[in-house]
Amino acid sequence: MAIKNDVAFVIRRIDFRESDYIVTLFGKEVGKFAGIAKGARKSDSKFGGVFDLLNLSEIVYYGSSGLDFISEGEAIRTWEGIRKSGEAINVGLRCARSVDRLLEEGGREKEVYDLFKQTLSSLDQKQEEARTLELAFYLKLFYLLGYKPELERCTKCGKTMEGESRLLFSPRDGGVVCSDCGAEEGLAISGGLRKNLIKLLSLPPTQVRRLKLSSELIEKSFLLLEKFGQYHFDRKVLSDTAMGRGAVKF
Ligand SMILES: [Zn+2]
Repeated sequence: MAIKNDVAFVIRRIDFRESDYIVTLFGKEVGKFAGIAKGARKSDSKFGGVFDLLNLSEIVYYGSSGLDFISEGEAIRTWEGIRKSGEAINVGLRCARSVDRLLEEGGREKEVYDLFKQTLSSLDQKQEEARTLELAFYLKLFYLLGYKPELERCTKCGKTMEGESRLLFSPRDGGVVCSDCGAEEGLAISGGLRKNLIKLLSLPPTQVRRLKLSSELIEKSFLLLEKFGQYHFDRKVLSDTAMGRGAVKF
C-alpha cells in the first residue's frame, strides 16, 4: 500500500458512520480526491480542525480499493480573515462547491488550484466587495476548463464589438452576438458590462476589486454566468445563494 501526501484544500465534507468524515480534497499535485478520516469527529481526534471547509492542509493518505484512507493531516492555512466575515465565508464556500461540481476526480487542474488559492488569499486579506472576486473566479474557472465566453467579437459574424451599444449575450452561441445577427435566447447586455467582464477575466484576483462594479452590474453578470455554465457544463454550476435575490431581470 503506497503512502502518498499532498497539500490540499478541503472542499467538501460529510459525516460518515459514528465518528468519521468523508472528505473531498483538491490537491496541488493529485487534483480532486475523496478520503475517509476515521474518528475525525471525535472531540479528542488527532485531526482537530484540519477538515474545516476551505482549510489548506498537508494530508498523508494511502489508497485502497475504494476511498483513500487519510492517516495524517495538518492545517497550513485556516483563513482567519475570511472567517471574520459571513459574506466572505459564503463566497469561499460557493467557489469551493463549484470546483467540486466541475472537476472530475483525479483531474489535475493545476491552474484551477492556483486560481482557487489566489482567490482565497485575496479574500483573506480583504473581505469587502467579495462578490466581485466571486464573479471573477467563475469567469476564470470557466475559461480554465475550456469555456471562455467570447466577449470581443460577435460569435456569429466575427464583427468586433468595440463601440457596439446594443448587444446580446447568448449562452448557446458561447458569448456576445451583434444586433444584426441576433440570437434566439440572448440576454441584452450593455457595452459597459461587456468591457467589465473582459477586465474581470484579465486582471489577477488581487486586482479585480479595483473595478468598483455596481451591484446591478454584478447581479446581471451572475445571471449571465449561471445560464452560460448551465448550458455548457450541462449541470448547475452556481449555487442558488450566488444569485442574489432575483431582483435583476433581463
Ligand atoms: Zn454578428
